[in-house]
Amino acid sequence: MNQELENLISLQHIDSKILDIESLAGDLPQKVEKKEQTLKNISDELVISNNRIEELEKENRKLQSEIEDSESSLAKYKEQLFLVKSNKEYDALNNEIDHIKKAISEFEERYILIEEEKENLLKSKESNESEIDTLNETLEKEKIKLNNAIKDSKSDLEKLHLDKKNIESKINSSHLNQYNTLKSAKGIGVAPLNGNCCGSCYSMLPPQMVVEIKSNNIIHSCPSCGVYAYWEE
Ligand SMILES: [Zn+2]
Repeated sequence: MNQELENLISLQHIDSKILDIESLAGDLPQKVEKKEQTLKNISDELVISNNRIEELEKENRKLQSEIEDSESSLAKYKEQLFLVKSNKEYDALNNEIDHIKKAISEFEERYILIEEEKENLLKSKESNESEIDTLNETLEKEKIKLNNAIKDSKSDLEKLHLDKKNIESKINSSHLNQYNTLKSAKGIGVAPLNGNCCGSCYSMLPPQMVVEIKSNNIIHSCPSCGVYAYWEE
């Protein structure tokens, strides 16, 4: 293979690796950050649920004591029924009794509704707590992975940049300039043939050019996009 072409291909491989590493390290911190945000949202939700549960319990304790008070009044009134002397007094007492019974049944209905709301909150609290546990666990793992990736990629990147410098010094400056222009415009400067087409823009190349590219002895650049072509066996 033509040495200059081989160097260009190596340069492209190095640049692709650098890009891969940079994009990998660029993605992980976002993943970790996103999980931390989710964790915070769930924890906030949990605090709200806990406050509400406390409120509901307080309200039900109050209702409970109201029910007890009403029931003891009811019992007293019922005893008094035996002691009344007039019909008028009897009716008045019965009215009072009906009134208290109605109040008790309203208290009880309210009590049941509150208990239901509390049950639902307790259920969602439980699932939130287990989700927090899971998130904490995976977050811990991802943070370790992130730190390792940063450490690994740092030394990998240093080595790749050294290799890149070394290869660049061997490439003819006009080729290197064109490569760099292509790389910043299209992301790549060298691409293997794709059948009889350019591996970058997929346009069909002239048959004679394809033959020459396949020899890997002549440097050709695609007439459509300018990317250097070679034959990958
Ligand atoms: Zn092309």
